[in-house]
Amino acid sequence: VLSGEKFEFQTEVSRLMNIVINSLYKTPEIFLRELISNGSDALDKVRFQALTDPSALDANPNLNVTIAVNKEKRTITITDSGIGMTKQDLQKNLGTIAKSGTSEFLETMAGDKADMDLIGKFGVGFYSVFLVADKVRVTSKNNNDDQYIWESTAVNDFTIAKDPAGNTLGRGTQIAIHLKEDQVQYLEDTRLQELITKYSEFINFPIYIRRTKTKLVDVETTAEKAEPKDDSDDSEEAKVEEAKEEDESKKEKVSVTYEEDDLMNTNKPIWIRDPKSVTAKEYDEFYPVLARDPTAKAMAYSHFKAEGDVEFKAIMYIPNEAPKDLFQRVDSKYANVKLYVKRVFITDDSTDFLPRWLGFLKVIVDAEDAPLNVSRETVQSSKSIKAINKHLVKKLFDLLKTLSKDEQKYNDFFSEFGPSLKLGALEDRSNVKKISRLLRYRSSHNDDFTSLENYVSRMKKGQRDIFYFAGATVKEIKQSPFVESLLARGYEVLYMNDPIDEILLSQLTNFENKNFQNVAKSNLNLGDEDTNADTEKELETKYAPLVDWMQATLLKDIEKVRVSNRLTTSPAALVANDHGMTANMERLMEGQAR
Ligand code: ADP
Ligand code: MG
Repeated sequence: VLSGEKFEFQTEVSRLMNIVINSLYKTPEIFLRELISNGSDALDKVRFQALTDPSALDANPNLNVTIAVNKEKRTITITDSGIGMTKQDLQKNLGTIAKSGTSEFLETMAGDKADMDLIGKFGVGFYSVFLVADKVRVTSKNNNDDQYIWESTAVNDFTIAKDPAGNTLGRGTQIAIHLKEDQVQYLEDTRLQELITKYSEFINFPIYIRRTKTKLVDVETTAEKAEPKDDSDDSEEAKVEEAKEEDESKKEKVSVTYEEDDLMNTNKPIWIRDPKSVTAKEYDEFYPVLARDPTAKAMAYSHFKAEGDVEFKAIMYIPNEAPKDLFQRVDSKYANVKLYVKRVFITDDSTDFLPRWLGFLKVIVDAEDAPLNVSRETVQSSKSIKAINKHLVKKLFDLLKTLSKDEQKYNDFFSEFGPSLKLGALEDRSNVKKISRLLRYRSSHNDDFTSLENYVSRMKKGQRDIFYFAGATVKEIKQSPFVESLLARGYEVLYMNDPIDEILLSQLTNFENKNFQNVAKSNLNLGDEDTNADTEKELETKYAPLVDWMQATLLKDIEKVRVSNRLTTSPAALVANDHGMTANMERLMEGQAR
């Protein structure tokens, strides 16, 4: 136990510690994130100072964070060569809450479970160390003071004393954590490495793990010769081996242990740079890092900076392929936005940053200040999240607009992600119009996809509606007598062969004030100028007996028989009534019920 001056924690600190412990006991691992980012902040500060006073770095010119463990002593030490803390800093920074708003924040938090969960997601600071520690010793050296030690077991008070060892750090801070008995997992090298990758891989300064290694070295020796070998083995090869051994008999290999610092964070945060300075190759190389899949490729990306309500930088990627489980995930977990605050990973399990139809995107968001921090009100956080959401959706539309200028590229995109856009048109009422412009359909025009815009531009003179027919496959649709008759009259028909299409159109109802007309419905209105009402009347009278007979005969199966001008080569067709389900829809519903 350190003997020195005793100080009591400010009441708010004790309260914050309780909240931290109670809300984060399930994810104690975040202590490492917090301590590394404090180290990084401290390094930022000294580097900034050195801009005007280069001598600030003299005591220790290397800027980095180094983590070492001692299994016997059950300790982890995290050392940074940052700005360090004077005695007064230690007392103030690690004993009070200086941040404005924190006290009020704590008031509003008191006892609210949901809010407690939320703070866990965002920055919680130094005191999170007590999630894993039963004792913490902070040794710190600032250029303006001698080296001091702060020590606490988190119970009410802490001690500060001048370090009897002297100014050993040169400059910076060393945090020695004595782990609780049930937190020894953090002594494992693989665990630490995993956490650094998860939370701190984009920290601007090198983060090292200090490892003890062994190697074999040759040592000159005068030791006696080894026992003579069994000479029954006198083959040529064996003789050669023996000769070699003799040759080296004065040397011996011994293993020695030594320490080496291994760099953990080699990935660079390209999103913080000016987009103009980032090459296509760098974007391509960053994608698999973000996706955590070395083979992953992206088809498009957008790199931007948001200002205003909330400030952040982001890169949004559209993957090359839709994930296989995209729509299973849609219902539960589709979180695909990694939120960072100043290069430090905060969360990737929030579904609030994007609507679920955009679950296929991969996005990194890095907020500049921390409006999502513990020190602000919860309401403020959710406001920021909404602002981020809105901005990302807008950028996605911009990206798709750009993409759609290259028809082939856009069609490739649509082949993969069309179902997501359709889901969006169904679910995201505020963006239906925009999404409908991005939809593509097969049509009778040619074998390619067409946009609704292009369909409309090709509409026949006098054609009022957009004609479509829904079926299981394009082949089946092409064979339909309804379609056949429209094509014979020179109309273009959209082929809807995706199960979601018909449901979607019943909601879209129109595009650029053109209604969607299902050609399988009985009230089909061609808007043909050459339809002759007189001939129609004549035909109706002429075929009245046939109609009556059919109606009587098929009474059980159909609702009505009527003479129609819509068929060309087929003599008759079954149609759905205006408000009824089409055959395709019925098949879908049956499929669902099964
Ligand atoms: P925050 O980082 O949000 O300010 P923390 O609880 O993490 O809150 O840290 C409190 C303060 O303690 C920091 O603002 C900083 O002044 C000081 N501090 C913590 N760790 C270090 C460190 N490694 N080097 C220098 N100062 C530190
Ligand atoms: Mg901090």
